[in-house]
Amino acid sequence: MIARVSLEIALRREFDYLIPEELVSQVEVGSRVQVPFGARKIPGCVTALAEESAHTNLKAILKVIGTQSMVTPKVLQLARWIGEYYCCAPETALKAVLPEAVRQEEAGFRERLFVRLLNVPAEPPKLSRRQQDVWNILLERRELAMTELLKLAKTTAATVRKLEDRSLVEIAPQISERDPYSREQILPSTPITLNPSQVGALAKIVAAMEARHLTGAQAPTVRVGAAGGTGGETPSKPAGGDACATLAKPTAATFLLHGVTGSGKTEIYLQAIAHALEQGRGAIVLVPEIALTPQTVERFKARFSSGKLQTLVAVLHSHLSAGERHDEWHKIRQGRARIVIGARSAIFAPVDPLGLVIVDEEHEQTYKQEEAPRYHARDVAIVRAQMENAVVVLGSATPSLESYYNCKHGKYTLLELPERVDDQKMPHVRVVDMRQAAHAEKGIPIFSPQLKEAITQRLERKEQTILFLNRRGYSTALQCPKCGYVAECPNCSVSLTYHRLEQKLCCHICAHVAPVPKVCPAEKCGNPAIRFSGTGTQKVEEAIKKLFPQARCHRMDADTMKRKDDYRRILGDFRAGKIDILVGTQMIAKGLHFPNVTLVGIIYADSALHQPDFRAGERTFQLLTQVAGRAGRGDVEGEVFVQAFTPFHPAIQYARRHDFQGFYDQELEFREQLKYPPAGRVALLTLKGRSEDKVKFSAEHVKRELDKLVAPAGETATAGFKDLIIAGPAPAPLLKAETYYRYQIMLRTRSMSKLSHALAKMVAGLTLPDEVTMAVDIDPVNLF
Ligand SMILES: [Zn+2]
Ligand SMILES: [Zn+2]
Repeated sequence: MIARVSLEIALRREFDYLIPEELVSQVEVGSRVQVPFGARKIPGCVTALAEESAHTNLKAILKVIGTQSMVTPKVLQLARWIGEYYCCAPETALKAVLPEAVRQEEAGFRERLFVRLLNVPAEPPKLSRRQQDVWNILLERRELAMTELLKLAKTTAATVRKLEDRSLVEIAPQISERDPYSREQILPSTPITLNPSQVGALAKIVAAMEARHLTGAQAPTVRVGAAGGTGGETPSKPAGGDACATLAKPTAATFLLHGVTGSGKTEIYLQAIAHALEQGRGAIVLVPEIALTPQTVERFKARFSSGKLQTLVAVLHSHLSAGERHDEWHKIRQGRARIVIGARSAIFAPVDPLGLVIVDEEHEQTYKQEEAPRYHARDVAIVRAQMENAVVVLGSATPSLESYYNCKHGKYTLLELPERVDDQKMPHVRVVDMRQAAHAEKGIPIFSPQLKEAITQRLERKEQTILFLNRRGYSTALQCPKCGYVAECPNCSVSLTYHRLEQKLCCHICAHVAPVPKVCPAEKCGNPAIRFSGTGTQKVEEAIKKLFPQARCHRMDADTMKRKDDYRRILGDFRAGKIDILVGTQMIAKGLHFPNVTLVGIIYADSALHQPDFRAGERTFQLLTQVAGRAGRGDVEGEVFVQAFTPFHPAIQYARRHDFQGFYDQELEFREQLKYPPAGRVALLTLKGRSEDKVKFSAEHVKRELDKLVAPAGETATAGFKDLIIAGPAPAPLLKAETYYRYQIMLRTRSMSKLSHALAKMVAGLTLPDEVTMAVDIDPVNLF
């Protein structure tokens, strides 16, 4: 027997190996193996089995890693798709589908000594006092880890060994699972009664799951007709019985659940998951890393993983230790955990059979991986669900333009939750024109008089306030008013941020740290009156402490949240009412519910609006809506102050009116004009290297290669690329990052699979000078 193996080194090809007799029973598609390669031993993944090979003199597989094939054939198929669509080497895609901790043989299971009660004699055995203590615990617990037993009995192992000598107990090593949530006390929850719009949404999701369940493995080929169109292959209605017709009517496999903040999307997820379990299938829940808080995980565990169902929910995210990640993954692979909740890469979790995938906050940028394979977890979710006949629910209060567009064009089904649960009102949003405040104060103030007044009121009423600013540090730049010098990072083309507490200048791109100069370091200047400009969260916190010395204020950003428990602790304090004002970055913008927060202040709403990115308006709209959604989650109506220098910008005005549809319509018009997504598709090629000249020269060379793809008029061979728009090469908005110069070429087309195919071909034949590399990013979300 021959195994085709993809090696974990980027070679863009697979190799055949002999399967030695003694390993035949262990090697299957998806097995991880170690093989000889030249003089080295290299791990790889078996992608296919064959009777014979076209090659002779095959070497043999050295050993099989792990006892179970790690990559299921379904996930293997998904990895192949990723390699092709995202234009990366298949081994790079394969590597991404297994967590590092699982790939690393060493992590392994942890074995611990366990003590087990063997037999209980009819007569109570005669024991010493210490032995009796141990005995009593074992009578109650039957079995537990040695360390735990010794702690409870306050004794040493020698005592337990004596019981072992008398054949009363057994001491043996056992696999002990590392459970990252073992210390949590999670109270079980029961399904909540849904309001009518929730009921309607859930019914459609469940109907789609049923349709897919009944058809078995065969994927339904029915397409929902284009908007206003005649419809695709609509099955003939059964005579009479409208209800039956509604049930039998095929629904799309992908739903966009568009619900305002606080509309109860999670409860729909929970009940849909319960349905998947009833069908004997599992579910994957993706949440942005930042939202993967204990609070979120608890809601899922409380419904499915309390009491006897201990291991039903597995959690995968970057804050787990390697061992914890290893064990959580194997719980899924062995089928003991049927529900997986995790960040981006959890989409590859080996849940089988898979019934449902939920992508919460589907508009979030963090679903896109910024290194190869540059996949978008939301899009991978949809492809995986198609392959496995599962249903996808994308949820958001501010859907991405792409997903909403797909609903409008009949690819996804739109489900709307227009109201908050419990009749909570949407918060009242006031936009404050900061140009007036700046004029009155002869400088740029942090707080407008309106916001100051509102904070004072909240403090008096003992209600809580959240202040949001998307910039950490104290000041965003250090500038000399005399000669114009700005302290910049030597490695990146950005200014350094001043961190006052630490008394240093930091680069937020490469983490470069520099001392704060006392005088202007520019030659022939030496001005001692060098100034800080711009405001970061540190400065907001300081200003609050000055203005409201009696208020208990805390800051939450990447600088204060350094340890694993910081986040949980501060949120706990905030919930318990020990904090009056919470200042923070995006970290506080997502999915947190605090019933006593009645005021949200957005310090500079337009700070992200003027970036050279076609999604700048969309991001601002999303952020404002999300942050505003933190207000008024209890009985008291919430109020939001949006401070802006361009108060009439559409992104700000539509967010003020909670008008997603209005924002979508005007934004789409602009995207359509310029063929930007969702009206077209984008691929971004970024060339980087330490010599700017070489990078620029290489980019121009790539451009000429790309030009060949565009068919000259009359030619038919490459006719499909007539719609290809090639922009650039141009310096990247962030020209220099971490000492590398970067040039970009942006491609726009309507048919991306075709383009990525052509790009893969071009890349394969491309020779770039040493020290220059090129990254291909299909459907990029970060244009810097
Ligand atoms: Zn100067
Ligand atoms: Zn830097």
